[in-house]
Amino acid sequence: MSAYKIIDHSYDAVVVGAGGSGLRATMGIAEAGLKTACITKVFPTRSHTVAAQGGIAASLGNNSPDHWTWHMYDTVKGSDWLGDQDAIEYMVREAPAAVYELEHAGVPFSRNPDGTIYQRPFGGHMQNMGEGPPVQRTAAAADRTGHAMLHALYQQSLKYDADFYIEYFALDLIMENGQCRGVIALCLEDGSIHRFRSHAVVLATGGYGRVYYSATSAHTCTGDGNAMVLRAGLPLQDMEFVQFHPTGIYGAGVLITEGARGEGGYLTNSEGERFMERYAPSAKDLASRDVVSRCMAIEIREGRGVGKEKDHIFLHLDHIDPKVLAERLPGITETGKIFAGVDLTRQPLPVVPTVHYNMGGIPCNYHGEVVRLKDGNPDSVVPGLYAVGEAACVSVHGANRLGSNSLIDLVVFGRATGLRLKETLKPGTPHNPLPKGSEEQALSRLDHFRGAAGGTPTAKIRLEMQRTMQKHCAVFRDNALLSEGISKIGSIYQGFQDVKVSDRSLIWNTDLVETLELDNLLAQAVVTVNSAANRKESRGAHVNEDYPERDDANWMKHSIATFEGWGGKGGTVAIDYRPVHDYTLTDEAEYIKPKKRVY
Ligand SMILES: Cc1cc2nc3c(=O)[nH]c(=O)nc-3n(C[C@H](O)[C@H](O)[C@H](O)COP(=O)(O)OP(=O)(O)OC[C@H]3O[C@@H](n4cnc5c(N)ncnc54)[C@H](O)[C@@H]3O)c2cc1C
Repeated sequence: MSAYKIIDHSYDAVVVGAGGSGLRATMGIAEAGLKTACITKVFPTRSHTVAAQGGIAASLGNNSPDHWTWHMYDTVKGSDWLGDQDAIEYMVREAPAAVYELEHAGVPFSRNPDGTIYQRPFGGHMQNMGEGPPVQRTAAAADRTGHAMLHALYQQSLKYDADFYIEYFALDLIMENGQCRGVIALCLEDGSIHRFRSHAVVLATGGYGRVYYSATSAHTCTGDGNAMVLRAGLPLQDMEFVQFHPTGIYGAGVLITEGARGEGGYLTNSEGERFMERYAPSAKDLASRDVVSRCMAIEIREGRGVGKEKDHIFLHLDHIDPKVLAERLPGITETGKIFAGVDLTRQPLPVVPTVHYNMGGIPCNYHGEVVRLKDGNPDSVVPGLYAVGEAACVSVHGANRLGSNSLIDLVVFGRATGLRLKETLKPGTPHNPLPKGSEEQALSRLDHFRGAAGGTPTAKIRLEMQRTMQKHCAVFRDNALLSEGISKIGSIYQGFQDVKVSDRSLIWNTDLVETLELDNLLAQAVVTVNSAANRKESRGAHVNEDYPERDDANWMKHSIATFEGWGGKGGTVAIDYRPVHDYTLTDEAEYIKPKKRVY
C-alpha cells in the first residue's frame, strides 16, 4: 500500500449523509450537546431529497377528516403486511408533530385559505381504515417539498454547532469486534484521508436506484452506506423490494410526482381508456404504486401502450385549470416542457414505470439502531452503528412504500436517532484508542482501484449491470428471468476485476470515485437479484409470475442477506430470514391482520 497521510478527528457522533434524514439526525444530535460531524459527498442541499416534489404524509386532518390509525392502516396495507407494525405505529403517531416542527423550522408549506397547511390526496392513502374515500394527507410546499425541507434543515443544523465535511467521500466503516468505531473518508478537493473516531456512526446515505438503467434517483444514489455495511460482514434486509414509480417521463426517467394524480391527473392507454378504473375500481389512478405500475405494464404487454413502439402510457393533466397547475404543480409543468417537449395544459405526457425507491436497506429498529440476526435473536444491536432514511429498513415500508411516506420517515426517524443518542451517550465521553490498522481495509480498497490497469472502462461495466437489472429484476419477474439474471450479474461482477481507472490521482478523480461507487452498486445488484430469486411468492413490489399469490404462511418474513467477496472476486450471497413484527408499540393501536390487498 502506498503511504497515505491521515488526518485524525474525534467526535461523539458522525452522520454520513446530508439529505433529509442525515440533516434531521445531525440537527437533533448537535442540539443534544453532542460533538457532531456530518460528512457528505455532495453539498447538503444537492442531496437527492432536493428532488422530492409531492410532499410529506401526516394525519393533520386539515382538508379532510383523518386519524393516525387510518394512516397506520394504509401504511401496513401498502407494505403488503411486510412492514413492522410497532415501527409503523411510531412513525404515524409522530408524523403530525414532525410536520409542525418542519413548519417552525422554516418550510414554506402551501396553505389553505384559512391559513392551515394545505394537504393533497396521494396514492393508497384512504379514510376509515382503508374503506375510503381518499384522504387528503400529504402536506407540500407546491411541488418542491424536498427542496424546501433541505434548506430549512441545513440552516437549522448550522444554528447548532455541527461541523460539516462537504464533498468528503466516506470509504468505509471502522469496525472492532462487531462494534462500529468510526469511519474513513476521502476529501475530494485535496485528496487527503480523514479518520473519524466516533462513539456513534449514523448512515444516512440514501438509496441505490442507480443499480438500474432508468431511475428517477440522482446519479449519486449509489447506496454507499449499504455497501459499507455489507463489507463489515453485516446483512441488508428486503433488498428484493424495489419500487417502480408509475410516472417517470418516457425516455428521460425524470419523475412526475404522484401529486399530479392527486390533483386530478389520470392515465390512459392507446384506446383512450382510463384503464385504472378496471383494475382498482375504488382508488383508480390513486391505487398504491406497485399496483398502478403493474397495471401499466400489463396494458403495454397486451398491446395497448401508446406511441410508435406502443411502449408507454399517457398521463393527462390537460383538463385541469391552468391556474391550479401553475400554483400547485409549477415544477412539473416546467419538467414536462423540458424533458418531454409537452405543454401539459394542452397535451398528455408520455410516462412509463421507472425505478424510484428502495424499500430494502440496513435493518434497524425504530430508534435507528442497526440490528442483526444473531443466534436467532433478531434484535441484537450493533453497538455504535445507526441508520436512517432510504438507506435504512426499519421496516415501515415493507414490500411497497406509499407516496409521501418517505419524507415523513426521514424526519421522524432522524429525530428518533437524535433522541436515542441523547439518552445513551454523554457529551465528551472519552474514546478508547482505535485498533491498529483501523484504516487498512478502506485504504487497501482505495489502492486497489487507483489507476486499476484492466481493459474495461467503469462506465461500460455499469451500463451492463444497469441493463441487466432492468431486464431481469423489474416490475414482473419469474424463475427463469431471475436465475438468468443471477448468472448474468455474476459474470458482470467477475468482469469488474478487469476495470480500468484512468489515473492514480486522489484529487477530483471522478473516474476513481465512480469506480468506488460501482463497486458498491455491484454488490447491491448481486444481493438484490439473489434475494428476489429466493422469495417464492408475490408481495408488494416483488412479483414472481410463477408464484402469483402472496403466501403468508411461508413468506411473511424479512429477507436478510450477507455478501462475500469484493472487487469482482467471489460475490456469493447468503440469505436468511427474520420474522415480521406482528405486534404494535402500544395498546392504543390494534394489530392489523393480513387480508387480501384490493384498492
Ligand atoms: C425524484 C424523487 C422524488 C421524490 N418525491 C418524494 C415525495 O414527494 N415524497 C416522499 O415522501 N418521498 C419522495 N421521494 C423519496 C425521498 O425523496 C427519498 O427517499 C429521500 O429523500 C431520501 O433521503 P435520504 O436522507 O435517505 O438520502 P438522500 O437525500 O439521497 O441523501 C443521501 C446523502 O448521503 C450522502 N452520501 C451518500 N454516499 C456518501 C458517501 N460515500 N460519502 C459521503 N456522503 C455520502 C449524499 O451526499 C447525500 O447527502 C422522492 C424521490 C425521488 C428520487
